[in-house]
Amino acid sequence: MPEGWKKELGKLAEEGMLRGLRTVDGPQRPKVELDGRQVLLLCSNNYLGLADHPRVVEAMVRATRDFGAGSGASRLVSGSMREHHLLEERLAAFKQTEAALLFNSGFAANTGIISSLFGPADTIFSDALNHASIIDGCRLSGARVVVYPHADSNALEALLERERKNRRGRWLIVSDGVFSMDGDIAPLPELVHLKQKYAALLMIDDAHGTGVLGDGGRGTAEMWGCLGQVDLQMGTLGKALGCCGAYLAADRVVIDTLINRCRPFIFSTSLPPGVAAAARAAIDLVDSPEGLRLRNELRRKTALFAGRLRDAGCDLLGSRTQIVPILTGEPEPTMTASRQLLDAGFFIQGIRPPTVPDGRCRLRATVMADHDDADLEAAAAEIVRIVRPSA
Ligand SMILES: *Cc1c(COP(=O)(O)O)cnc(C)c1O
Repeated sequence: MPEGWKKELGKLAEEGMLRGLRTVDGPQRPKVELDGRQVLLLCSNNYLGLADHPRVVEAMVRATRDFGAGSGASRLVSGSMREHHLLEERLAAFKQTEAALLFNSGFAANTGIISSLFGPADTIFSDALNHASIIDGCRLSGARVVVYPHADSNALEALLERERKNRRGRWLIVSDGVFSMDGDIAPLPELVHLKQKYAALLMIDDAHGTGVLGDGGRGTAEMWGCLGQVDLQMGTLGKALGCCGAYLAADRVVIDTLINRCRPFIFSTSLPPGVAAAARAAIDLVDSPEGLRLRNELRRKTALFAGRLRDAGCDLLGSRTQIVPILTGEPEPTMTASRQLLDAGFFIQGIRPPTVPDGRCRLRATVMADHDDADLEAAAAEIVRIVRPSA
């Protein structure tokens, strides 16, 4: 192997930036076994506990028995199975669009959607804190990319105005719905206003909002009363929905364009039928009184946990959701805090660049609907003890 890789890894280790894998045993429950020890899990996206919900698991087992473990081919060859179509119809109805299309992951969806719908003649306005997969999709598209300051619609409007003189091609405004590292929410009504005023398209990545926000769990757009005003509603099946894969809900013409052009869709084996069936069962749960109950629990527990941290003076950035970052600043103290928390039985990841900007390292805690109140209080107390906020 070339010497260079070993050297680079050594350098990362010296800088406290080396990343490595851990082993979790058991399902993504509030308590898991990590490297052989029971800990409180505070870094799973299984917000509603659907990843091992009996009805979701049963749907996966039944479809796997009936249709097999794998889909056998990509969608355009022979891998377009009934379960994929049923899930796409369910997603379109759920998101109130004409159609929907499945992808194997959110990463594949964002890179594929953006790069096949937009090209070098077009301009993309992208929030500074958008997910890495959106950034890569913008790069792959070859479009002119204008990055606007995070969630700042005044600054966005100034940039739209500036670009107007040289306008050519299509315009896209793209944003996370819930920002994955900050837990704050995009100002959708303002983005809708701007996309109308400047004749742009609007794409929202609702990976962390789907299932969680809005009375019916339809996500950020429902919460803001903007369903029907977002042209490209992307989301994932692997977070609150507890499965894996992703989707785009949009007009039929957009979906048909992707079926014909989108490389990660065309050149990749489709999701296993069991996954599609499980995701459909998860949406049915989200869209039921049980889903409402789980969302209310999640909201109440988030308020409890975040409230404790805020009262003790922690900087939670702009968090308004189950994603609760605790700003720690530099990599070294962040990773030390994460290790100390683990020693105390609390599993919370430290987040470093390039996932977040320099100097903005954080502990990123996520709350689940079935976390125990007392466990969350204990975790908050331990975080405060270790991080020692100055306020
Ligand atoms: C997790 C995430 C993705 C990627 O989705 P995967 O299905 O995990 O590949 C995309 N966008 C955002 C905002 C995410 O948080």
